[in-house]
Amino acid sequence: MLQKIIDIIYPARCPICEEIIIPKDIRVCSSCKSKLSYVEEPRCMKCSKPIEHEDKEYCIDCERKKYSYERGFSIWVYDDLMKKSIAAFKYNNKKEYAGFYIDEMLRLYGDAITKLKPDAIVPVPIHRSKYFSRGYNQAEILARGIGKALNVPVIANLLIRKKRTEPQKKLDNRQRLANLQKAIIYNYKAVKNNKTINSILLVDDIYTTGSTIAVCSNVLIANGVQKVYFITLCIGKGF
Ligand SMILES: [Zn+2]
Ligand SMILES: [Zn+2]
Repeated sequence: MLQKIIDIIYPARCPICEEIIIPKDIRVCSSCKSKLSYVEEPRCMKCSKPIEHEDKEYCIDCERKKYSYERGFSIWVYDDLMKKSIAAFKYNNKKEYAGFYIDEMLRLYGDAITKLKPDAIVPVPIHRSKYFSRGYNQAEILARGIGKALNVPVIANLLIRKKRTEPQKKLDNRQRLANLQKAIIYNYKAVKNNKTINSILLVDDIYTTGSTIAVCSNVLIANGVQKVYFITLCIGKGF
C-alpha cells in the first residue's frame, strides 16, 4: 500500500525524456531507447571511441598519445540526449537514473569486466565541496552498482580530489593535465591491511578529452597499480 502511494507521488520517470514510464520496471521508454546512440564497431581498441574506418585500430587521440590505462568501455556517444540525461543525474538529484545506466553497463560490459578480474572498482573523485552541495558523487553511485552486481569491492575514497581546479576551459590540454595531476591524490589509508592492488576499474560518467581518466590512471600506476581499466556512460567520437 505504502509503495503504491509512493509510486503515485513519485512515479518512475524515463531518464531520457523525463515522462512517466509504465510499467516502472522497464526503466526507459522504448522510443527513447531506440533514439540512443550506442557505441558500436568500429571503435578504438584503447579508449573505445567510435572511429570512422574499420581498418584502423585506434582513434586519432590514442594514435598520438600513450595513455597509461589498458583500455576502456563506454556505452553511449555523448550526444544531446545523453547530455541532458547525465546533467539531470549529476546536478538535479536524479539519482534514480543510475538504475538504467547500471543495467546497461552490466548488460553490455559485465562479462568483459568479469574477465579482466579487477581487484577493485574506484569512482573518479569529486571535490568535497561539490560532494556536500550535490549530496553524492555520481561516479560512486555507478561504481557501487557495478561492484555489487559483479561482486568486486568498491574503494570509493582511494582517489581524492584535493583543491578545486580553476575552470579547465581556459587552459590548454597540457596545463589542464598538470593542474589535475596536482589535485588527484592517492589515499593509501583507504587500502585495508596494505593489501596489494594490481588492477583497478575506474568509473566515471563521461569521457571527453580523456584527461580526467588519464590523470587518475597515472596516479594509480605511480602508486603501484599494474593495470587500470575504465568504464564511462558516455564518450565523444574519435574522428
Ligand atoms: Zn523516454
Ligand atoms: Zn582511442
